[in-house]
Amino acid sequence: MRTTVGIVGAGPAGLLLARLLHNAGIESVVLESRDRRYVEQRQRAGILEQGTVDVLREAGVGARMDREGLPHDGIELRFDRRRHRVDFPALTGGRQVMVYAQTEVCKDLIAAQLADGGPLLFEAEALAVEGAETDRPRVRFRHEGREDVLECDYVVGCDGFWGVARKAVPAALSRTYERTYPFGWLGILADVAPSHDELVYARGERGFALLSMRSPTVTRAYLQVPADTDAADWSDEEIWDELDRRLEVDDPAWRLARGPVTSKSVTPMRSYVHEPMRHGRLFLAGDAAHIVPPTGAKGLNLAVGDVVTFARALLARRDKGDSRPLDGYSGTCLRRVWQAERFSGAMTTMLHRAPDATAFDDKIQLAALDRLTRARSAETDLAEAYTGFPL
Ligand SMILES: Cc1cc2nc3c(=O)[nH]c(=O)nc-3n(C[C@H](O)[C@H](O)[C@H](O)COP(=O)(O)OP(=O)(O)OC[C@H]3O[C@@H](n4cnc5c(N)ncnc54)[C@H](O)[C@@H]3O)c2cc1C
Repeated sequence: MRTTVGIVGAGPAGLLLARLLHNAGIESVVLESRDRRYVEQRQRAGILEQGTVDVLREAGVGARMDREGLPHDGIELRFDRRRHRVDFPALTGGRQVMVYAQTEVCKDLIAAQLADGGPLLFEAEALAVEGAETDRPRVRFRHEGREDVLECDYVVGCDGFWGVARKAVPAALSRTYERTYPFGWLGILADVAPSHDELVYARGERGFALLSMRSPTVTRAYLQVPADTDAADWSDEEIWDELDRRLEVDDPAWRLARGPVTSKSVTPMRSYVHEPMRHGRLFLAGDAAHIVPPTGAKGLNLAVGDVVTFARALLARRDKGDSRPLDGYSGTCLRRVWQAERFSGAMTTMLHRAPDATAFDDKIQLAALDRLTRARSAETDLAEAYTGFPL
C-alpha cells in the first residue's frame, strides 16, 4: 500500500489531519488499532478553544457543532465559599470557547472521512514506523489477521501517549520532560441538566471539583481523588455528596442537581513533553508528543494545533517549494505546547490540594485566586490562555 501521508491513529489529531489533507487534495491513509465504535464512544475532552472551533468550521465539519455545541463566555471560580466569574469576551476582545464533546468531534470527522475521504482503516494496528530518516518512510501494520506495509512520503504519529510512532525517534535524540501528580480525577457523566450554565472550577479544603457539562441534559463532573483510586470504590451517592461539599458557596439559591450516573472513571494526571516532535520524515502530533493535566482543557486543542501546523507546512512545501515550515515543525509546535504546559500546570497547582499540602501552601493558593478577582492583568492572563494561544 502506498500514500503521501501515512497517519497512525484516528483520535482527534489523526482524523482532523486526514480531513485537512483531503480538503487540500493530498492523499492520506489512516491506520487505527481500535474499532469505530470504541473510537466514537471514548469519553475524554469537551472544551474547544476558539481557534479549534474556527478550524473545524473551515474544514467543513462544524455544522453539527454549531447546532448542538454550547458556546460559553466564561467560567466560574469557587474558593473560600466565594464565587468569581471570569468573563472571556470582555478580557480577550471577544473570544469564547465551545462545549462540544470529543466523542462528537470524532464522530463528525469519521463520517466525513468515510463519505468522501481517503482510506480510514479500523482495527489496523501499527507495529512500527521505519525509515524515518529516508524519503520513503514506512509503517508496518497488522490488519485483518495479516501484516502489511504502508509506504509514505511522510508519516504523522497521531497514536496517543501509548502509541508506537514516538519509539521511532532514536533514544539518543529524544528528550522527555515529565511531572506526575499524586492525584487523579474521578469523572462522572449523569443524566441531569447542569446545575450552572458555565463550568465551575472549585478549590476547597477537601480538594478540587469541576462541574461541567456535555449538553443541556447531561452533566459532566469531576472530583480530585488519590492517584490509585478505583472508581468502583465510590458509590453514586458518595460522589454527589462530595461534589456538594466541594462546590459549597455562600449563596442560598445554589443547588446541585443530582441524577442517574451513566459512567464513572478515573483519569490520571500527567504533564509530559517529548522533544523533538519531528525526526526526518516522521512527525509527532497530539498526545503522541505531549500530555497536559486536564485542568486547563488543552489536550485536544493542542492536538488540533499540531496537525494544522503540519498541514500548513506541507502545503507551503507543495505550493511554494518552501521546506522551512516542515523543517521548523517541532520548534513551532513546542512553543505553543510549553505555553499550554505552563498554563495547565499552574491551574492544577492553584486548584488541587496535594496530599502533603501545608497551611502555607493553602494560603498561597488562596492568594493566587484572590489576585485573579482583583487584578485584571491576572484575570486576562487566565482568559487568554483558556480561550487559546494563537495557531
Ligand atoms: C481518560 C482521558 C480523559 C481526558 N479528559 C480530557 C479533558 O477533560 N479535557 C481535555 O482537554 N483533554 C482531556 N484528555 C486529553 C484529550 O482527550 C487528548 O489530548 C486527545 O484525545 C488527544 O488526541 P490525539 O488524537 O492526539 O490522541 P488520542 O485521542 O489518544 O488518539 C490516539 C489514537 O491512536 C490509536 N492508536 C494507538 N496506538 C496505535 C497503533 N499502534 N496503531 C494504530 N492506532 C493506534 C488509539 O486507539 C487512538 O484512537 C483526556 C485524556 C484521557 C486519556
